[in-house]
Amino acid sequence: MRTDGRDPSGNVRDRGSGGGAVGAGLGAGALFAIVRRIGVRGTLIAVVALAGIYFFNPFGIRDTVFGLLFGGTPGQTQQTQGEGQTCDTQGPACDFSARVLRSTEIVWREQFQQGRLPNYGSRAQAYEDPVLNFFSGGVASGCGQASSDMGPFYCPADKQLYIDPSFYQVMEQRLNAGGDFAQAYVIAHEVGHHVQNLIGATNKTLPGEDRNRTSVRIELQADCFAGVWGHQDRAALEVTDADLREAVNAAHQIGDDTLTQGRADESQFTHGTSAQRMRWFRQGFDSGDPRQCDTFAVPAGQL
Ligand SMILES: [Zn+2]
Repeated sequence: MRTDGRDPSGNVRDRGSGGGAVGAGLGAGALFAIVRRIGVRGTLIAVVALAGIYFFNPFGIRDTVFGLLFGGTPGQTQQTQGEGQTCDTQGPACDFSARVLRSTEIVWREQFQQGRLPNYGSRAQAYEDPVLNFFSGGVASGCGQASSDMGPFYCPADKQLYIDPSFYQVMEQRLNAGGDFAQAYVIAHEVGHHVQNLIGATNKTLPGEDRNRTSVRIELQADCFAGVWGHQDRAALEVTDADLREAVNAAHQIGDDTLTQGRADESQFTHGTSAQRMRWFRQGFDSGDPRQCDTFAVPAGQL
């Protein structure tokens, strides 16, 4: 892919390092100890509960799990008070992310204008561009303190995205999910959560389904929306078959079954299996139509 066909979005903020990460950093360190004590499955359950406390929404869960299982060294979060600028050292990653964000703004403005969205009862308003925050180590968000160990996330309360650009290295080196289009997929997935927030998908529940199952539907829809983005701007970004394979591979590598390597059963999953994540990303990419991303309209067994 190429990003020079898109200007960097102005809706980015460099929050620097630290940003009040003390609590979050300590929390991650403590949780790492818990992983060693009670294992991955018990930790998954604990993390779901904690994510609810920290983020009041199901979107931080994956990223929290990510951080616990695959994140950077816990307890060594930088504690400096926002002195250094993240993009001084991560310039290319920041520039890349800002251009991908710009691409998502163009795509979603048009989709909202055309009303091409799943209908959850609330009339789809005009698209509002979200802000993307770059940070290193830790950051204060509208959903509470967050640490890089939690991975990138979207906060519905302040309608902003948060990413430590070093996560791109984590993807390549620890998750076997390298490639620029795989990185773009991460941004597009978090933007997908923003779209959900605007159309009322965030509050949707289905009778008889627990919180984890609802979370899976939400996460798979965000994957599908990421695919829609890739489809809609594929010409300007010169998306190739190899790019598509990078994104599908990333979707595979971050499936709950692959991440937990069979140590958690499906009732604990919050983001979907590798097969489901690949399928829904492809559904969005192949159709280019957000209305084909209505994961709430599909019986649980067919997700
Ligand atoms: Zn997500």
